[in-house]
Order: sequence, then structure tokens, then C-alpha cells
Amino acid sequence: MANLFEQLKRKNIFSTGIFSDPSLALLQQDFKTYTPEDYKVWEILFEKQEKNLPGAAAKEVISGMEAIGFTSKSIADLKDASYRLKVSTGWSIQVVPGLLSDASFYNLLQNKRFPVTSWLRKLDELDYQLEPDLFHDAFAHLPLLMNPTFTRFLEDLATLALRFIDNPLAIELISRIYWYTVEFGLLRENNGIKVYGASILSSSGELNYCLSETSLHHDFEVEAVLNTPYWKNKFQDRYFIINDFEELCKAIPLIEEQLEELLQKAG
Ligand code: FE
Repeated sequence: MANLFEQLKRKNIFSTGIFSDPSLALLQQDFKTYTPEDYKVWEILFEKQEKNLPGAAAKEVISGMEAIGFTSKSIADLKDASYRLKVSTGWSIQVVPGLLSDASFYNLLQNKRFPVTSWLRKLDELDYQLEPDLFHDAFAHLPLLMNPTFTRFLEDLATLALRFIDNPLAIELISRIYWYTVEFGLLRENNGIKVYGASILSSSGELNYCLSETSLHHDFEVEAVLNTPYWKNKFQDRYFIINDFEELCKAIPLIEEQLEELLQKAG
């Protein structure tokens, strides 16, 4: 541990502003802490969702899933996944204890580090957990981080968020963009609708619901997304569809412009 701390200090990692709490830099996944129940939980969730992906997930998610190397038989190895991401898009994984402050979260993203928790939900809460666990963070988020266009969007959105980090209204509005894309985004593919949002990919219930006739679909429009609040404890009222990830990158200047307008109106 001491050696790692020295190495990180030499890399000047603490003075770059990535970690408001330097102890975060030292966190690592510890396989010794996983119980047989943890392995069972990973296996059940993985096998259930793996079956759902073909036909429902965007092709970038499916190719990313193959490239990241996860299997049902072993809990995701974050060191290995981090290495694969680094080679592919230059991103890496930062193990975190749980939800972070907005500043820490966007700081990590801006530095091409994705925060991932290492704990797993319990067997009696397979379908619902209050906070994101390893299954959500790794299985549902990491495959798409193999895509350089998507990671460029994440980085640019984080840079924008950090510009407004002291303004709670701006951060709430930016979180709507994050929510309806990174967590609940849908994508048009060969005339069909596919899923790329991580919160949908890690929930079999919402995966079926969001692609059903009963859910509301809209084309992704910055103004509409900025004006749509979201739900944390039930399925979303509506979902926004993009044509490709380039569309998200191109939306960044418009997000900035409309954000400034909305903030001005709010006084
Ligand atoms: Fe998430």
C-alpha cells in the first residue's frame, strides 16, 4: 500500500484535482472479500441479462461486452477490465466506495476514469438495489467505454459539468442529459430501437418495458431532455432515442448554449 501511495504521489495524481479525497486513489478490488453468495449473485444476474442482450442491446454494447472479457463464472476483474479499456479508449477504472459528490464524479470522468463500486447486491435483492453495485457499474457501464465516440461524449459532458460545478441548477440540468443518455439511452439501429443506457442494461424489467409498445419514445432533443425530470425509483416515463453516438458529441455545444439560456432565465 505504501509503495502504491508513493507511486501515485510521484505521478502527482493528488495535485491534479482528480481526487478530493486522496484515500480514493488507493482503493482496489479485493477478491478475498467476496463470498460464495457474491459469486452466485454475479452468475445469476450475468446469465439472465446476457440472454437478453442479443436483440435488445446496441451493437456497440454487444461488441464491447465481448471485448471487456466478463463471464458468468467469475466476478468482473476490474484490473483486467481497466487494462482492456486503457488499450482500447485510454480510459481506466477507479474503484470507489459508493456514490460520489458531483465534483469528484465529473473530475474522474474528465480524467478518463470511470468510478466502479466493488460490492454486490444480496440474493434477496436481485431485482432492486438502492445504490449502483458492481453488476450495474461493470456489466452495464464498462462495455460501452470501449467505444471512443461514446467516451469522447462522456469526457466533454464532464468538462461542461465542471464549468458549472458550483451551480446546483446547472448540475441538475446536466444530470438530466447524463440520465437520459448514459443511464437510460436508446439508439436507432437498422430501423429498430436498441438499448445503450446502463440502468436499462442492468434491469431485465426495464429492458423489456422500454422496448415495449407501452413506453414513450422521443427523438433525442437537447431542449426536451433538459426540461424532463427523471425518476430514481421507478421506470422512466419516456426515453430519448439517438441515431448514433456522434449525435451526442455534436450536441455538446447546444447543451452548453441552452444551459446558459435556462440559467439566465432562472436569474
Ligand atoms: Fe450508472
